[in-house]
Amino acid sequence: MQPRPLSNDALAFETLAIHAGQSPDPTTGAVMTPIYQTSTYAQTSMGEAVYDYARTINPTRSALQDCLAALEGGRYGLSFASGMAAIDTILRLLKPGDHVLASNDVYGGTFRIFTRVYEQYGLQFSFVEMGDLNAVRAALRANMRMVWIETPTNPLLKVADIAAIAELLSSHVGRPLLVVDNTFATPYLQQPLKLGADIVTHSVTKYLGGHSDVVGGAVVLNDEAAYNRLKFLQNAVGAVPGPLDCFLVLRGVKTLPLRMERHCANAMRIAHFLESHPAVQRVIYPGLPSHPGHAIAARQMRGFGGMISFVVKGGPEAARRVAEHTRIFALAESLGGVESLIEVPAAMTHMSVAGSPLEVDAALIRLSVGVEHVDDLIADLERALSLISI
Ligand SMILES: *Cc1c(COP(=O)(O)O)cnc(C)c1O
Repeated sequence: MQPRPLSNDALAFETLAIHAGQSPDPTTGAVMTPIYQTSTYAQTSMGEAVYDYARTINPTRSALQDCLAALEGGRYGLSFASGMAAIDTILRLLKPGDHVLASNDVYGGTFRIFTRVYEQYGLQFSFVEMGDLNAVRAALRANMRMVWIETPTNPLLKVADIAAIAELLSSHVGRPLLVVDNTFATPYLQQPLKLGADIVTHSVTKYLGGHSDVVGGAVVLNDEAAYNRLKFLQNAVGAVPGPLDCFLVLRGVKTLPLRMERHCANAMRIAHFLESHPAVQRVIYPGLPSHPGHAIAARQMRGFGGMISFVVKGGPEAARRVAEHTRIFALAESLGGVESLIEVPAAMTHMSVAGSPLEVDAALIRLSVGVEHVDDLIADLERALSLISI
C-alpha cells in the first residue's frame, strides 16, 4: 500500500517542516525516511523503472526536495551537493552575452563564481545597491536575463524589497528571472516565491541543515519549463548530494521553526546589548529601527534572523581581539547552526573580495547567534569587549 501523501495546502509551516515529502517507508513502516545508500536499483523490466541510477534519482533526496519545495511554498525542489553547486546550476540557464544584475553585497563565493568562472564563458555581471529601487531601475539593460538578490545580505545585512523588484522586472523587456538567495532568512522568515521571485536558492549548509554537520544546496521554483531544464542540468552536471547528507538536512529542517524563533529572539537581545555598549561603534541588525531596511524587513520577514554585524571602536586590531577571545562564540566561518559563531569577514569569509567593490570594513565583526541561553552569550561578548581599550 502506498502511504498517503499529505496535502500541503492546508498545513502550517511547522507541520510541513516535519512531514512534507515524507511518509512512513512502504516496506517497513519506518517513520524516518531511510538513507537509501545505493548507486543503482534492480529493474523488473528493461528501461521502465522509475529508479534507475542514483545521480538521477534517489528516494532520500526526493523526500528532501519535496520538503524544501513545500516550505518555500513552491511546486518544485532540487537538491545539490553545496550551495555553490545550486548557484552554478542556476547560472547554466543562461547563454553567452546574457547579463546578470546582482546585489553589490552578494556572498563572496557567489561574487567569485560570477566574476572568475562565468565571465570567462561570456556571461556579464553588474552590481547594484538592491535596496535602492531607482538604482535598480537605472541598471536594467536590454540583455538582462537574471537579477540576483540576497536579502538580508552577507555580511552587511542589507535589505532589498523583493516584491517591489519583482514588480519592476515584470514590465522590463525580456522579463529577467528574479533569483533570491534565501539562505540568511530561510523560508520560515521569508518566502520569496510568494513575493514574486522566480527562483529561490539556498545554502542548506546554514540554517536549513542547522547543525553545522552537512554541506548542501537547494533550488525551489514554480515554473515547469525552468524546473525541467534545471532537473536536466542536475543530472547532466551531477553535483548531487549523497543520501546521508539529504537525511541530515531532512532531520535538521524538522526543528527549523523552533530554531529560528530562538535565533531571532537571541539576536534581538544581543543587538540591543551591543547598541548600548561603549566599545561598539555601529550595530547592523535588520530588527533595529536604526537599520535602513528595517521597515521593508518588518514587512517581508516574519522575524529578523540570527545574523548581526557590528563595528568595534579601535579598528581591525580591536576586532581581532574580540573575535579571538570569546569562549562560547567559536571563531569560525559559516553560520546558521545551533551554536554561536564569531568572525571578522575582512580577514576570513570575505578575503576573496578584498580590493573589489564588495570589500568590507576590517573592523567589522559578524555574529551567527546560536540557540544557547542568551544571558550566557551576552556575558561572553561582554567579557571579550572588555579586553579592548577605547
Ligand atoms: C554559504 C553561502 C552560500 C554557499 O553555500 P555552500 O553551501 O557553502 O556552497 C551561498 N549563499 C550564501 C548567502 C551563503 O551564506
